[in-house]
Amino acid sequence: MRITEIFHSLQGEADAIGWRTVFVRLTGCPLRCVWCDTEYSFHGGQWHDIDAILAEVARHDVGHVCVTGGEPLAQKRCLILLQKLCDVGYEVSLETSGALDVSAVDPRVRKVMDLKAPGSGESARNLWSNLAFLHQRDQVKIVIASRADYDWACSVLVEHALAARCMVLFSPVHGAISPRQLADWIIEDRLPVRFQLQLHKLLWNDAAGH
Ligand code: SF4
Repeated sequence: MRITEIFHSLQGEADAIGWRTVFVRLTGCPLRCVWCDTEYSFHGGQWHDIDAILAEVARHDVGHVCVTGGEPLAQKRCLILLQKLCDVGYEVSLETSGALDVSAVDPRVRKVMDLKAPGSGESARNLWSNLAFLHQRDQVKIVIASRADYDWACSVLVEHALAARCMVLFSPVHGAISPRQLADWIIEDRLPVRFQLQLHKLLWNDAAGH
């Protein structure tokens, strides 16, 4: 598999926030969200076989492993990697764009699946059939860059009964919308969603390796 980086840090978002976690960042993504903060993962990387990845993860003595990207599901062997990480006994999460089919992901994996709002430039890529494969412990994340994105997210929330399926996370685009503004809208509208800021940005300002 082509890997951009494997590193040990704190989980910066979603329901495992704050846990020491090893991140396995797979190289490549077929999307180009305008606010993407991991463009360095689009190209390059190094080839590792799955056993080498498992050995590197094991070095860090953690309970949580996050498989991320890029778009990890763009590499077919990602499904095997996820399964093997679960077999070892890790709490495994998968960060995915919502544009690729998640139906074959091991049910032990916690999926953190984006739905792309219009401000991402990639809204047309949302694969709505994925919603049928979400479990209660999965999470849907909508990254919001503007009031128009927020209004879109509110409509999607109702239209697809998202909050009844799993936890829904609303997150502001760093530098595009004030976090406080988004928090105020969520409170005013009494939304059944969880507001989140990315911990790694607050702690390390997105420096490499975190
Ligand atoms: S799906 Fe993720 S990695 Fe790909 S362009 Fe969008 S934000 Fe970046």
